[in-house]
Amino acid sequence: MKDKNVFYIKNIVDGKITEETPRVKTQKIVEETKNAITLLSNDDFIEVMIGCFIPDTYKDQGKKEKLYTKLSELVVGEWWRRMGGTYILPTKICGNCGNIYSRVKYTTRAGTKITKWRCGSCNKADGHKVCSNRYVTDETFTKLFVMGWNEIVEHQADYQERWQENIKGDDVLLRYKTKLVMKHAAAGVIEEFDSALMMAVMDHITVYEDGRLQIKFYDGTEFEVATE
Ligand SMILES: [Zn+2]
Repeated sequence: MKDKNVFYIKNIVDGKITEETPRVKTQKIVEETKNAITLLSNDDFIEVMIGCFIPDTYKDQGKKEKLYTKLSELVVGEWWRRMGGTYILPTKICGNCGNIYSRVKYTTRAGTKITKWRCGSCNKADGHKVCSNRYVTDETFTKLFVMGWNEIVEHQADYQERWQENIKGDDVLLRYKTKLVMKHAAAGVIEEFDSALMMAVMDHITVYEDGRLQIKFYDGTEFEVATE
């Protein structure tokens, strides 16, 4: 990995401010950084992303730490922008055939607009239904996410041992993802569904034909619920 990538955010922060800077022009720095990271090649970008953890040398709650946090959020946003441009994010997977669930919107004869998720293989093969797995509503997924996430947040003390193991391990992506989970868990429980949070901490949900739903978070934690 190139040093300029590993210390990319740190170099910006250190180059722009000190703890004594009276008024930090956060908005301007955020804009400039956002434009700059958009122009990075994928190879450079992945190194920037892997390197972007708050340096231990920064003062707790200090100006540098705050700016660094803002800029690393930009990196996460850019990551998703790039992923979205190239892949379909497999956030909901069919436990029957392994296909990705996709969101379908339709209007009933009575004029009611309905949004449901169904297995992506349902509409393939010339109209032949190749997978009979169930439809799932938006609400079912969002409820499951809120419930699972709050379960982790409320019992985060119990997860510390596992998280520490993850962030000391060799799997770079797991280290990154676990730190995301830890950071967001520290912010406390959520009252309602938050799609940005879901993208930051959830790996995927698997839908099984017998009614079970399984949710997996980025740190590897899984929950399973039975629906009707
Ligand atoms: Zn399927």
